[in-house]
Amino acid sequence: MNKASSSTTTKISSFVLLVIFITLALSLTALILATYTFSQDGIAAYYLLLIGFLGAALSTYVLLQTRKKLKRLGIKTPPITTTVECRKCGFKSIREFQRGDYIFKEVEPCQKCNENMLITTIYKEVEEKGEKRLF
Ligand SMILES: [Zn+2]
Repeated sequence: MNKASSSTTTKISSFVLLVIFITLALSLTALILATYTFSQDGIAAYYLLLIGFLGAALSTYVLLQTRKKLKRLGIKTPPITTTVECRKCGFKSIREFQRGDYIFKEVEPCQKCNENMLITTIYKEVEEKGEKRLF
């Protein structure tokens, strides 16, 4: 996913959230109004109750659907890659990021000269530019 599409998704979801909250606020107002109207106009109060419950149910449903969608999007996180370099002979190897990796950490010995290698870069793979350095 590129930058443009991800920002559009955020815009849409925040717009959806706004609509949900407005609907929820309106339905709550309808419910409150219904309790006030009950003593004067029974039928109007029932309509308000109906609108209130429908609005609340609809906004809750949309909210749950949106959360599901966002969760599905959240699974697709780009992989983090670590570059290990040998200072002596310049041998480079790239592997998946492992817990506890940090820049300038000494890792396993070099395959060529047996000198301890150093972690030089840790970056996130991004489809758009190929890589994005984290540190
Ligand atoms: Zn080496």
